[in-house]
Amino acid sequence: MDCLEDLGVCVNAAQAPLLARQVAIIGGGYAGIAAAVKLAELGVISTVFEAGKSLGGRARRIEYRGHNLDNGQHILSGAYSELLRMMALVKVPHNAYLRVPLTLMFGMPPEFLMRVANLPKPLHMAIALLTARGLNWREGFAAIRLMQALKACKFKLDTKLTVADLLKMHHQPPKLIRYLWQPLTISALNTPLETASAQVFANVLRDALDGSRAASDLILPKVDLSALFPEPAAVWLAAHGSQVRLGERVSGIEKNSAGFVLSYGQFQETFAQVIMAIAPHQLTALQSRDSGIQQLISASTGHFAYEPITTIYLAFPPSSRSLNAPMMGRIIGTVQWFFDRNALIDRPGLNFNLNPDMHSDLHPELHIYAGVVSASGPHEHWPLDELAAVALRELREWLPDLVEPLWHKVVHEKRATFACTPGLKRPSTQTAVPGLTLAGDYVACDYPATLEAAVRNGCRAAELTFKQL
Ligand SMILES: Cc1cc2nc3c(=O)[nH]c(=O)nc-3n(C[C@H](O)[C@H](O)[C@H](O)COP(=O)(O)OP(=O)(O)OC[C@H]3O[C@@H](n4cnc5c(N)ncnc54)[C@H](O)[C@@H]3O)c2cc1C
Repeated sequence: MDCLEDLGVCVNAAQAPLLARQVAIIGGGYAGIAAAVKLAELGVISTVFEAGKSLGGRARRIEYRGHNLDNGQHILSGAYSELLRMMALVKVPHNAYLRVPLTLMFGMPPEFLMRVANLPKPLHMAIALLTARGLNWREGFAAIRLMQALKACKFKLDTKLTVADLLKMHHQPPKLIRYLWQPLTISALNTPLETASAQVFANVLRDALDGSRAASDLILPKVDLSALFPEPAAVWLAAHGSQVRLGERVSGIEKNSAGFVLSYGQFQETFAQVIMAIAPHQLTALQSRDSGIQQLISASTGHFAYEPITTIYLAFPPSSRSLNAPMMGRIIGTVQWFFDRNALIDRPGLNFNLNPDMHSDLHPELHIYAGVVSASGPHEHWPLDELAAVALRELREWLPDLVEPLWHKVVHEKRATFACTPGLKRPSTQTAVPGLTLAGDYVACDYPATLEAAVRNGCRAAELTFKQL
């Protein structure tokens, strides 16, 4: 059994504090950890079972050649209200992430550059669109008109519409689609325009672009994704009497008069209530003789299709040239975004403010770029080394004097998110089995598969569990 020793978290059942463990949470991703934190806020002790060696699930640290990377480069939005609230609650320091006004930059020098100004709503977005380099006034106004039309219908659309349908109905010019709507759809929904749900996209636009200026901010982690929330949360949970157990895969779940009996390894333990915070395809591995639980598992897993995300890390000597921004997009080619991980380290010449006291988990002894390819495409069938070579070639279009990388690492997450298609039925938090609740990014909510969806659904599962105790 593993211990988060450096975090001071007890993860050994034998060392558990003598407190009633009322609720079990299966899964230590952002959803499961958020559920545990919310329960603790409500005064309920819980035990989180995480099969992996680290916390975070699809947003976790991976180690490579002694360096902390992530299973995939992530970005957060200022509209992630519940995740940001929880991060503050568990005392994640502000310098664990870089918060900047939304800036979309394509090309170097930029062929498209849109920067949200420090102005009150709605001026911040209107000015950003009208002054964006690469768009003319007509194109800027077309974007504003679409936002106004969405506002007029209170962001409620025909659930059968795709984003492509929506853009066509509102006569969006090709350049606007190429530089704004397409990248935003792929980044937020990880689903191509032609098959992405217009309703879910509208929900994202409502909160991020039609909310306050701060809600449109871009948030880039400076620490790895396990350290960004789940690990500080585990420390906070331990101080509140809850437990996080790593390396504990729950294999079975049965119901009896006392509640639910969970099997893990050679052990069994009974809990009054259970929150299942694992991805739908992982639910099917849970064994149960209870017909209600079996039905719940098959009903919750059946109809999801998935989209991949691939992250290509390229490591260079520290003296290598930087990009002009921490995150830059590409329209043509394979890689959609390059992240300059070292741009999150304080450096002169970069146009955003950094806290001089910040601690960064990045590695100044290397200069690491992360290239991201979202959603499916031909790259999925290429050998990983070939994909790394393509990413290097594309990065060199901007930085031609880059030397050969010291190493590369490609992480291909096959089921990164569910495909966010129109009318997709997502299961609700509440199930037909009293005491058994679902959490996770795939559970019904306004948002696509994101950290915020995971956290909101974790909180909702905790509130429901609390009501049923
Ligand atoms: C490469 C990539 C890039 C992404 N980029 C972004 C981004 O930029 N912004 C954003 O907001 N979102 C992004 N996402 C999506 C985001 O990571 C997910 O929506 C979120 O992490 C899902 O959290 P979750 O807790 O619902 O599920 P998961 O993270 O899948 O957590 C489930 C956990 O349950 C554990 N588990 C499974 N079975 C068992 C069992 N039987 N017993 C015990 N434990 C078990 C798993 O090990 C896992 O830790 C990205 C995802 C990927 C993969």
